[in-house]
Amino acid sequence: MISEKYISWGNAGSTIRELAAYGAERAKIVGRENVYDFTIGSPSIAPPKALLDTVSRLCAEADPTQLHAYAPAAGIESVREKIARELNESFGADYDAGDIYMTHGASSALAILCAALLSEGDEALVIAPYFPEYKTYIEQTGAVMTEVLCDLESFQMDMGAFAGKITEKTAAVIINSPNNPSGVVLSEGSISAIAAVLNKKAEEYGHPIYIIADEPYRELVYGGIEVPFIPGLYADTLYCYSFSKSVSLPGERIGYIAISKAMADYSNVKAAVYGAARALGYVCVSPLFQLAVAETLGELSDIFLYDENRTLLYDALQEMGYRCIKPDGAFYLFIKTPVSDSRAFCRKAMEKDLLLVPGDDFGCPGFARLAYCVPVERIKKSLPAFKWLAEEYGL
Ligand code: PLP
Repeated sequence: MISEKYISWGNAGSTIRELAAYGAERAKIVGRENVYDFTIGSPSIAPPKALLDTVSRLCAEADPTQLHAYAPAAGIESVREKIARELNESFGADYDAGDIYMTHGASSALAILCAALLSEGDEALVIAPYFPEYKTYIEQTGAVMTEVLCDLESFQMDMGAFAGKITEKTAAVIINSPNNPSGVVLSEGSISAIAAVLNKKAEEYGHPIYIIADEPYRELVYGGIEVPFIPGLYADTLYCYSFSKSVSLPGERIGYIAISKAMADYSNVKAAVYGAARALGYVCVSPLFQLAVAETLGELSDIFLYDENRTLLYDALQEMGYRCIKPDGAFYLFIKTPVSDSRAFCRKAMEKDLLLVPGDDFGCPGFARLAYCVPVERIKKSLPAFKWLAEEYGL
């Protein structure tokens, strides 16, 4: 029998992807340069040259029967060794190759971790605003997604509300910092406060509560701000990284999970990660890209260009009367919509081919997300449309 669950998810689709597809259709009619698409978080800056050169060299020189062969399910040993070493050197961690599982981006890392850590009836807590796909990964397992809203002025954690949402059924909490869509980076103090609450509750309930640290934007921070390494502050953390954003490889689908030895039930968690990945079919990430990212670890795209976009768009929108926090990281602005119906606001914006994503999809109605990882010309050219929209709402 066809799964009702999948039918409903398939039919629901993703607003972000639908808007992006709409933008592509409009571009055919009015020209690409006249569509101000701020929907999808796909980098507009090329991957680092060193990485592209490595890909070309591997294609030219490596034995093609090896380069395009199946990789080991969890990843190539030497690649996982390099990643473990880099994490250990950067953060004083204690990973070895066996603690790293190569994944098809953060998406599959999250799907694997939800499958590994959650069972029917469990709860997984997410902090709104959050990446919309969390719900699917969590509900896929039979667990329930519970939500806690952050403080809507600062977009920092509301610790009282957070503690109030942890129940005996809470098996995991997903933390995403730098955050999509708010751009907020949680401070070490916030992470330590979260850790203190979780340690206390885990002891009270007699089972671990895992943090899934979803960090595809780790290096995308501005003004020298530090991103605390969560596994160093809370032992029961599963760390997810992706090469999609700061290395601009979203289409190549590559990332990894790191499993800390210090965590409760380390060997069972590790076995469950390997088993879940196998059951979901997330095995053998492209050897070409595994080798290429491992050889060029630490090389980033020219992400300072996003900083210029951030300042340009933030300053212009403030001037027009829009309200939002200046993000410290990632490449999104999360603006307060001048009406509570953010879907209606985003529909209005479409009249000028200005494509924004309603906050409802991130568990945060009353806001809209703009991805500013776009060519700077698009931002400059879109400003009259933002101005028109502001005037429509009397800002
Ligand atoms: N997590 C967050 C917070 C994201 O914003 C994204 C993508 O936008 C992902 C996970 C998935 O990224 P990927 O699968 O490309 O690594």
